Parts: sequence; structure tokens; C-alpha cells
Amino acid sequence: DKPIVAIVGRPNVGKSTFFNQIVGKRISIVDDQPGVTRDRIYADAEWLNRKFTLVDTGGLDTESDDELLVHIRRQVEIAIDTADVIIFLVDGQVGVTPADLQIANFLRKTRKPVVLAVNKIDNYEDESMVLEFYSLGLGEPIGISSIHKRGIGDLLDRVVKHL
Ligand code: GDP
Ligand code: MG
Repeated sequence: DKPIVAIVGRPNVGKSTFFNQIVGKRISIVDDQPGVTRDRIYADAEWLNRKFTLVDTGGLDTESDDELLVHIRRQVEIAIDTADVIIFLVDGQVGVTPADLQIANFLRKTRKPVVLAVNKIDNYEDESMVLEFYSLGLGEPIGISSIHKRGIGDLLDRVVKHL
């Protein structure tokens, strides 16, 4: 079976946009409102002749912070259990949030490889916003822009090294 690469991250960081860029079809739902991805969505993907299954974890439609944390915890646990590599996506325009710290705490407990991707780094001038994500304790963060397809190749290089 193909290895599984799961995308995790709090709502609205751009998981579905990222997924769609890699898969090349708009099969994941993107919206300005957090929580628009209703279900876990899987697609076949390939990079440098390495085939894998990419999973967009989502399915969020909760309002309260408590529910959000419970939900995120469940998503991350499923990703840890099923994925071979985890892409942890964060929002470089917003910076580190409490939910990001929670996710990082869960992810640091796994031995599965985690690649930390800082999305919405739309220009080279924004690269400095990547630095604060070192504080998550998950290694070197890599700046990407899912909308502008910036940094995606470098990120996938790093992902497939773990496959
Ligand atoms: P998800 O909830 O994590 O799946 O996030 P979505 O993919 O639905 O995206 C949430 C919002 O962020 C949408 O308005 C996207 O257009 C926007 N977005 C996603 N990627 C980028 C990016 O690279 N740059 C910028 N500026 N906005 C982005
Ligand atoms: Mg989504």
C-alpha cells in the first residue's frame, strides 16, 4: 500500500488550499470560514516518482474553543495513528496561536516524522515571519504559499525523504 501523508493544522491555515495545489484538482473545499472541510479527503499524489496518499484532515464545524481543542486532538491522534509522515501546517500571517501550541504538544510525542510548513508566506519579504515557529519545537519551519505555489517543491522534497 502507498504511504500516507496527512496534513494537520487548526482551521483556516490553508490545509485544503495546500491539498488542492498538490493534488491538482479542486476536490477539497476551500472557504474563508473556518470549518468548511466537512470530511477527511484522500487523494493520490506523487513527487519525484514517489507515490503517496495525501489526506486533508478537516471536518470542523464547531464554535467553542473547548470543542475546537477536542476536535483538533482527535484529528491529530488519527493522523499520528495512520500517517507515515505528518505535515503540520500553520499560518505565517497570524503567527503562533494557542491551538498551534496544543497541536505541537501532541505531535512532539510521536516518533512519526513531522514537517512543519508555515503557509501564507506569499512573498520573499515575509520569510522572517517563519522564524517564530521555531518555538514550536518541531525543527526547522519551511515557508510556503499554497496560493502562489511558493516553496511547495522544497516542502515535498522534505516529505518524500521520509517515505
Ligand atoms: P483550512 O481550513 O485549513 O482547510 O483552510 P483553507 O484552505 O480553507 O483556507 C483558508 C483561507 O486561507 C482561504 O481564504 C484561503 O484562500 C486562504 N489561504 C490559503 N492558503 C493561502 C496562502 O498561501 N496565502 C494566503 N494569503 N492565503 C491563503
Ligand atoms: Mg479545509
